[in-house]
Amino acid sequence: MTIDDAPREALRGGPRELLRWVATGAAVSRADLSRLSGLSPSTVSQRVEALINQGLLEETGAGRSRGGRRPRQLAVPTGGAVVGAIDLGAHHARVGTLDLSGRVVQGRTLPVRIEDGPEQVLGALLAEVAALAAAPGDPTASGVASSATGSTTAGALRGIGIGIPGPVQHSTGRIVSPSRMPGWNGFDVAAFCAGRVDVPIIVDNDANLMALGAHRTAHSELDHAVYIKAGTGIGSGVISSGRLHRGAQGSAGDISHCRVVADPAPPCSCGNAGCLEAVASGAALVTALRDQGVPVTDLTGVIRLIDDGDRHATALARQAGRAIGEILAVVVNFFNPQVVAIGGRLADCEPLLASMRATLYERCLPLATQTLLIERVATGQDVGITGAAHLVIDHVVAAN
Ligand SMILES: [Zn+2]
Repeated sequence: MTIDDAPREALRGGPRELLRWVATGAAVSRADLSRLSGLSPSTVSQRVEALINQGLLEETGAGRSRGGRRPRQLAVPTGGAVVGAIDLGAHHARVGTLDLSGRVVQGRTLPVRIEDGPEQVLGALLAEVAALAAAPGDPTASGVASSATGSTTAGALRGIGIGIPGPVQHSTGRIVSPSRMPGWNGFDVAAFCAGRVDVPIIVDNDANLMALGAHRTAHSELDHAVYIKAGTGIGSGVISSGRLHRGAQGSAGDISHCRVVADPAPPCSCGNAGCLEAVASGAALVTALRDQGVPVTDLTGVIRLIDDGDRHATALARQAGRAIGEILAVVVNFFNPQVVAIGGRLADCEPLLASMRATLYERCLPLATQTLLIERVATGQDVGITGAAHLVIDHVVAAN
């Protein structure tokens, strides 16, 4: 089965919100849910029963007594690997299984050769998710098995969320004109995966996954947020009114080909020159340093040079930070978020972060930056698979 789109965010007190309140610990009983949602106890009970019947909520023993019968406590089933997640990067992929509260049960980082093409790369990653789900000690994963034909029956998984480091048309799960992904253009990720695994497959771009993962874990109380993913490539994900904002086709937040002031303007993989990605991405820094005769082969080498205080690398990092700040200033003035957070491997690069921050303050309206939080994404390497899992969890709850 292929999933095009999860239904729109439920109204206040909808099943998704009830589940989220329990998952985050905001509610432990029907009474809590009734109070938080403003819904009548009978409506809450009805919805809770439905969630319990679907295996999305469970009742665990008894809560504190206030004299009468002790209330039963609600919980999201934990400890079982019920959602699969893949966060594909240019050179590595993080794969994992998570429970229905979005907690990582198992996570693993695997080297990836993106140039091997989508069938080989995704086939291997799907097999890895199935293997994790079937790992010993996981009572919920007994339905996962690989057949002799290589197809996988992930019966116990509720779905698999997949992040792709390139533009994804949200309605189809198809990749459209990605940079640095030869052989992937036009590939229908959702259809390919749906043909191999008979659970819902939800595909999005990696920056959206990072935005969702970071927002749900660090900023769920904030309604408007922008998350920049700065690694080999560069992109952003937007949370608007508490929801991931994809726009009409799924390209919202894609800042990679916005033009920045750069002299000379380096050529970009899209055919234009002076794009943010050609100036400020990890791949751009590697190219620029090589052009200066510095023998680096990858982003790890660039970050090591910056950490060592190499003047060429540090200057380029500052220039990258300014370029990101220029584009972000437009975004912040236009969108007025409460928080801008930067993640990805370049987020640990101090000179880049400092010049991005300075440019933002210099170029933004005072009203836009007065209370603006500018942060690092703190969730670490699992932020992408956490976002992927939340995509699936939202879908599962909305579909029930
Ligand atoms: Zn470009």
